[in-house]
Amino acid sequence: MRWDNLRLTDTGQGAAVPLFARGAVTRTFPTPEFRGMTFYEIHARSIVNRVPAASHVPFQWTINPYRGCTHSCTYCFARKTHEYLDLDAGHDFDSKIVVKVNAPELVRKELAAPGWGGHHIAMGTNVDCYQRAEGRYELMRGILAALRDARNPFSILTKGSLILRDLDLLTEAAELTDVGTSLSIGFVDDELWRSVEPGTPRPGRRLEVCATLTEHGLACGVLMAPILPYLTDSPQALARTVRQIAEAGATHVVPIVLHLRPGAREWFLGWLAREHPRLVPRYLELYGRGAYAPKAYQERIARQVKELAARSGVGRSSSAAARRIRPPAPPVSPAGPEQLTLL
Ligand code: SF4
Repeated sequence: MRWDNLRLTDTGQGAAVPLFARGAVTRTFPTPEFRGMTFYEIHARSIVNRVPAASHVPFQWTINPYRGCTHSCTYCFARKTHEYLDLDAGHDFDSKIVVKVNAPELVRKELAAPGWGGHHIAMGTNVDCYQRAEGRYELMRGILAALRDARNPFSILTKGSLILRDLDLLTEAAELTDVGTSLSIGFVDDELWRSVEPGTPRPGRRLEVCATLTEHGLACGVLMAPILPYLTDSPQALARTVRQIAEAGATHVVPIVLHLRPGAREWFLGWLAREHPRLVPRYLELYGRGAYAPKAYQERIARQVKELAARSGVGRSSSAAARRIRPPAPPVSPAGPEQLTLL
């Protein structure tokens, strides 16, 4: 492995910034939940990163304490960014995790810098900040405490139920500044979940997380992503998912159809060929011209979900709870289907 090739800054776009201020420390843990995983502990040089202007996302600043993600979603398009580390976008992405162990201290330092403007910071935009490694490293607790103390607005997008560990810090922060949370739940089919998102908590558990956050007065939306053509896009599947999202008390739901950029494309199509070979020609037709499904398809899904959300009452039951504290920060969701990693 060529450590001198590794890159530090998580812009989500793979910006070429030297990775290590010091050499990485390699660790494995002999417990069942970390079997087969390797962690590379590094000291990052900076942690609050500006998103490139060309990204068209509704936030400008991000914090990403990890690279790689043990949630192992086959469609994850952060996969490609692992190649900037001289690791592969497939199994390495799932099992070789870079941990920025000094992230909490850096956040505190960078938020206190005279030039910092107190901007909204989005987390979970590249890889999941509440992935399994967080249970051991607990970087998010220090990061949230620093954000709370600086009264700095922030939002979190996650698939991880571990976010509930930090309910105390989230609610404290929400008393002082704008805090937004979003769960990523594309569908509620457990069989498909086991196959396509094998390292994540099951969808039902994620819905419970959303409900708990809402009950604690934290605005929680759902990024219904990705919607998988021919697998989770039937009217019945969409209706079932949106109904459960409404029942969980989500403040809003934003659907995003699967997109397949290089890195994710190869890995996902490999999975599809193994699990649903008959769908491969249909996917190649749908994604034949690029990373995105045709606009008409995306618009149809958006329309269906919007209608279902209105019919199911998404946001109705949560509005009172969310009003108990400050108004929610802008949801962590893309203006369009581009750019945002699907958590
Ligand atoms: S989609 Fe999100 S949760 Fe899944 S592997 Fe990628 S970063 Fe992790």
